[in-house]
Amino acid sequence: MSDIEHLRSLIKDIPDFPRKGIIFHDIFPIFKEPTATEMFVSHIVNHINVTIKKKVDVIVGLDARGFLFGPMVALRLNAAFVPSRKKGKLPGKTISADFKKEYGVDTFEMQADAIKPGQNVIIVDDLIATGGTAAAAGQLVEQSGGKILEYIFMIELTDLNGRKNLAAPVYSLITFN
Ligand code: 5GP
Repeated sequence: MSDIEHLRSLIKDIPDFPRKGIIFHDIFPIFKEPTATEMFVSHIVNHINVTIKKKVDVIVGLDARGFLFGPMVALRLNAAFVPSRKKGKLPGKTISADFKKEYGVDTFEMQADAIKPGQNVIIVDDLIATGGTAAAAGQLVEQSGGKILEYIFMIELTDLNGRKNLAAPVYSLITFN
């Protein structure tokens, strides 16, 4: 079994969560297995080292599951980790961007001085569906003057084609229809 097949086999599909009719892809079983976590983080770091020919300055992780592995990737790349958080959680001066959820609007915030103009940034999250969440984080990076080298997701729901809403290359390890 390849590394990716092993990771895929650990993701648990939970029917009717958080609402009836939704199949939720639960990634937490991966983090219960240190060897799988190592495999996952190493895969991302190798991908970045092989394909991104620039120094990565900042990994931006999205609230909340992007916080699980963003710092691990950042540490291995000797890069900074910056969180994109739901509204009202970050102290000090912040910048903000709204994004559409299935019902209503949500807001991401980032500390205003977290990313310096010209820094090279990679944005990470567990899953891309419509791409709205990741696009809002991308707006914050752009407002800060950072350059988005890539978006990286553990899972991509390909039928929704969320990558069309993102203005930088997208890499995903595991796809579901
Ligand atoms: P989007 O904005 O691309 O439509 O939704 C992506 C966001 O929804 C991500 O932040 C992700 O954490 C969350 N999400 C939606 N469905 C799932 C799912 O089935 N599994 C996991 N792990 N996250 C999901």
